[in-house]
Amino acid sequence: MKIAVFSTCKYDEDFLNQFNTGHKLRYFSAPLDEQTVALTAGYDAICIFVNDTLNKEVLNALHANGVKLIVLRCAGFNNVDIAEADRLQIPVLRVPAYSPEAVAEHAMALILTLNRKTHKAYNRIREGNFSLEKLMGFNLSQRKVAVIGTGAIGKAFCRILKGFGCHVSAYDVYPDKDLAATGVTYGTLQETLAGADIVSLHCPLMDNTRHLINKETLKLFKPGAMLINTSRGGLVDTVDVIDALKTGQLGYLGLDVYEQEGKLFFHDYSEDVIQDDRITRLISFPNVIITSHQGFFTREAMEQIATTTFANIDAFANGGELINRVKS
Ligand code: NAD
Repeated sequence: MKIAVFSTCKYDEDFLNQFNTGHKLRYFSAPLDEQTVALTAGYDAICIFVNDTLNKEVLNALHANGVKLIVLRCAGFNNVDIAEADRLQIPVLRVPAYSPEAVAEHAMALILTLNRKTHKAYNRIREGNFSLEKLMGFNLSQRKVAVIGTGAIGKAFCRILKGFGCHVSAYDVYPDKDLAATGVTYGTLQETLAGADIVSLHCPLMDNTRHLINKETLKLFKPGAMLINTSRGGLVDTVDVIDALKTGQLGYLGLDVYEQEGKLFFHDYSEDVIQDDRITRLISFPNVIITSHQGFFTREAMEQIATTTFANIDAFANGGELINRVKS
């Protein structure tokens, strides 16, 4: 098939080229949106990532251009209007799970960095500053950690937390019996957030989870608690979180995703003036760490993304079963 692949960096191209099962790929570093959809004329399929925008307008333009298949190189599909794609009869296929451990381990990396301040110690030592002042952390053992969403990543994260000796409480619309049997305690969202030292988000972004963390839910947090978001930026109301950091209600914040990340993440703006005042405010806090949506970024996950993407494309091309189709 002739496939237009959007939002690519060199590492995407390397992995896709390595596992290509014989398709004609054309790479575009630009994201797919209203401005770039004209580029898809003459392609059978498009391949996209987390920050491409497939709203009604873009989907109708794809349909008019003769695109017959949409493949996502990711699990989340909040950036695609699935109902409209169904109406246009363009199947949307995703990579449902690619090394959930990659994201779970990154969530733990954010916790350990925020807590033990290894990033500050690294810089201090390089400058000949061997002082321990202001580097004090806390033991993770016996701490209460709230996990919101216990799917593939949430479960992997719970296993890591258990290894650290944490008390794990969880909220999910579909509690997992096997996970509960390992000692994870399920409760309502309110019960789960209350009294937690750390809250980590692992549920998808949907209409009913948008701004799940807001002024009201932040009040339920233990004062000075830590919030980790490696799921989707829209789960957190950024303005409310900034307010909570300023009052100290929130003591630490670790983000791998950000509401407005589409305009920033995956690009080098080190010589530019960043226009997003919310992210610059967040960056200014000493107790905030932001990474640029790199939770998935391990060799194992990249390999899994590439192999599943081509398996999805081959299933469509050969009239096989579309096991990874997302339906409205
Ligand atoms: P999953 O589908 O396996 O699990 C999601 C879980 O959330 C399910 O158990 C579901 O029941 C639960 N859920 C749904 N609605 C909920 C709600 N309102 N409240 C609480 N729980 C709810 O997905 P996953 O593979 O574990 O991925 C979780 C999220 O992680 C994805 O949606 C994606 O946004 C994000 N993600 C981020 C990265 C990254 O690089 N940072 C990589 C992959 C996925």
